[in-house]
Amino acid sequence: MQQISNYINGQLVPPLSGNYLENLNPAEGKVYSFLPDSDERDVEAAAVAAQAAFLSWSQMPLAKRAAILLKIADLIDRDLEGLALAESVDQGKPVKLAKSVDIPRASANMRFFATASMHVAAESHLMEDEAINYTTRTPVGVAGCISPWNLPLYLFTWKIAPALASGCTVVAKPSELTPMTAFLFSKLCMEAGLPSGVLNIVHGLGKKVGQAIVEHPMIPAISFTGGTVTGKTIAATAAPMFKKLSLELGGKNPNIIFADCDFEEALSTSINSSFSNQGEICLCGSRILVERSLYDRFVSEFVKRTRALAVGDPLNEATRLGALVSEGHMQKVLSYIELAKQEGGTIACGGERVKVDGRCASGYFVAPIVITALPQSCRTNQEEIFGPVVTIMPFDAEEEVIAYANSTAYGLSATIWTNNLKRAHRVAHHLKSGIIWINCWLLRDLRTPFGGMKQSGVGREGGWEAMRFFTEAKNVCVKL
Ligand code: NAD
Repeated sequence: MQQISNYINGQLVPPLSGNYLENLNPAEGKVYSFLPDSDERDVEAAAVAAQAAFLSWSQMPLAKRAAILLKIADLIDRDLEGLALAESVDQGKPVKLAKSVDIPRASANMRFFATASMHVAAESHLMEDEAINYTTRTPVGVAGCISPWNLPLYLFTWKIAPALASGCTVVAKPSELTPMTAFLFSKLCMEAGLPSGVLNIVHGLGKKVGQAIVEHPMIPAISFTGGTVTGKTIAATAAPMFKKLSLELGGKNPNIIFADCDFEEALSTSINSSFSNQGEICLCGSRILVERSLYDRFVSEFVKRTRALAVGDPLNEATRLGALVSEGHMQKVLSYIELAKQEGGTIACGGERVKVDGRCASGYFVAPIVITALPQSCRTNQEEIFGPVVTIMPFDAEEEVIAYANSTAYGLSATIWTNNLKRAHRVAHHLKSGIIWINCWLLRDLRTPFGGMKQSGVGREGGWEAMRFFTEAKNVCVKL
């Protein structure tokens, strides 16, 4: 059975403990590989290697540094099929989605920041005839990058690409639930000629490896994507050490549908925004709010189309929903169905485990769930479930739906469907969300800021400014 290695100081190495964790294929419910059960000693080795590599990487001519990152992007494209397959097996997502979204966006991340790094301008401020200030930005040093399981290579590269492009060296940790594509990525880095120690990947558990990265005194900046609860722990550790912190956390995103929308587009995109990747995308809309005059028609069509979604073997190109990432996560999702019933909700469809024949007979499959008749204040509508679960609720007035949309502790993304131009902008203006889509969903321009408000995170930056996080500004004031 395949054994994943750490990538430290340019080498693929075993964990110092010699211990490994089981890596499951969630579509089969079976162990299919092993990953290092690393600890603080592996993180120490990675941090020392990253520190040693920092000077030469940060001083490398920009064009040369960018060329290496662009080469990695090309290699991701070359290996698209293999990476997509690995990601599908690791996470349970349909291979078609991995091929069309995750892997292409991973190479886009590398390419965007590689090229952006060559166009960053410095600032200067003239104080009339008295003085001139110029501001320099230099890489902060070794960056710690910690990523989740839901879009494994896409979010892993989203963290490390701006760090490497800005001249930082990196100690990174992918999720223990989905380590395979980061392992394959380390091989691509070696093939691309990334100098030893520039990127170090330490596999293992969050409480051991992640915590050791956050605590490490040689790592002054932590870029984290994951759950809000983990984000709080990380902030509590990093803040007293005065580390730079970027936190991209959970969401409970509203999807607002006005009666004057383009019905077919709103409906079909809402099916995607609810159930893509089994609803395991932080940007999925999990609370659908529909103007009352359209409500009955929308619910009836939405439920009909949800029932028709093919749940099954992720490797089958026709599959729309694959397996949930783990048995534990499946149990969490199912527990919310019970909660929704206790809270008085009506299950319009789904919620049962789906038995898939053949090799997937023991996989973690759940039929997508639509719940109605729940108030916005209940737990089902306030807490992030992170699975194929949506609630639908009617509204009567614009102010009312804005209040509903803003009523959770989260503020990651929102979607608005309307053909009323003024209303679209007005509602967007009043929503407390980091990203708002009008008549579309999941379009991403990497030049724009990304991240959430409230408990969905801190540290939103867009485009090349995302690299700012990994730098320190210094102002020099010169008397004229
Ligand atoms: P998680 O918080 O459990 O884990 C994320 C990463 O943190 C993993 O690599 C994990 O090993 C590590 N970790 C766990 N405990 C740690 C600790 N004490 N110190 C340091 N690292 C630790 O999240 P998850 O279950 O992997 O991912 C799902 C969550 O991520 C959802 O809440 C989802 O909304 C969120 N998410 C947010 C975004 C975004 O851009 N805002 C994107 C994707 C996912």
